[in-house]
Amino acid sequence: MSTSAPVSPSNNFFRLQKRLQSAVGKAIADFNMIEEGDTVMVCLSGGKDSYTLLTILRALQERAPIDFKIIAINLDQKQPGFPEDVLPGYLSSIGVDFRIVEADTYSVVKEKIPEGKTTCSLCSRLRRGVIYRTAKELGATKIALGHHRDDIIETLFLNMFFGGTLKAMPPKLATDTGEHIVIRPLAYCAEKDIATYARHMAFPIIPCDLCGSQENLQRKKIKTMIQGWEREFPGRADKIFRSLQNVVPSHLADTDLFDFKSLSGDAGDVSDPLFGDEGSSAFDLSETDGTRIQFIRNLRDEAA
Ligand code: SF4
Repeated sequence: MSTSAPVSPSNNFFRLQKRLQSAVGKAIADFNMIEEGDTVMVCLSGGKDSYTLLTILRALQERAPIDFKIIAINLDQKQPGFPEDVLPGYLSSIGVDFRIVEADTYSVVKEKIPEGKTTCSLCSRLRRGVIYRTAKELGATKIALGHHRDDIIETLFLNMFFGGTLKAMPPKLATDTGEHIVIRPLAYCAEKDIATYARHMAFPIIPCDLCGSQENLQRKKIKTMIQGWEREFPGRADKIFRSLQNVVPSHLADTDLFDFKSLSGDAGDVSDPLFGDEGSSAFDLSETDGTRIQFIRNLRDEAA
């Protein structure tokens, strides 16, 4: 029988909190997401991801060796039934600087999109515009969004399956005009960790289906696919994410990324697994093994 002390739920929670904080700290450092003097505008939807993002960023802010400001914003899109007191109440209670931005994107979307059609893409576009404008007005130097590792992986497959492109969702992005820098500090955090953390923290979650639109069905299917893989092969989602950080253009097929046309013998790493160039160290081959294969072929030549 084990003599070690039982692990209490609070120990598990502190371990989870530490894991999330380290993951966010590492993402910030790896991508140089936050710098001295930054004003980070944290976009809060009222969902588990953005609450977690704000909480962890504030915890890291307290002990960061650099000085930066945090302003939380929530966009009230005027969806029917939106509980407009929840976020102001919560944000006041934790003492964070915040703004509520009112923008009636709901009625614009309802007016422009025929009944029964998906409204998310126009809604997101309108929301993005308001977020950028608000960042400018507030003098924010960084816009922090609550997308996590699993959002990034799902986007990779969505783009592959429906867009024919190999691209995901970058942890750090300069907008088209170069005016804003968008950061995703939860990029290394697994969704299930965030969900557990949010449950423990009892954040006042605002449901995301107030607009009455269906959640993106294709994204849902991909999420189910990845969750199925993860159940069968634990760690697969992490492996997929790590592959995004370990890209080998010479082993893809994009002629803009790698100059295949001028490929020559001294091109460096040209290893090819199907050609036996990789993983050969897994077999214990002696020099005579090669000779034996050669010898058998000679016998066949003689018989002919
Ligand atoms: S679910 Fe509703 S609020 Fe969310 S992006 Fe789609 S249309 Fe907009």
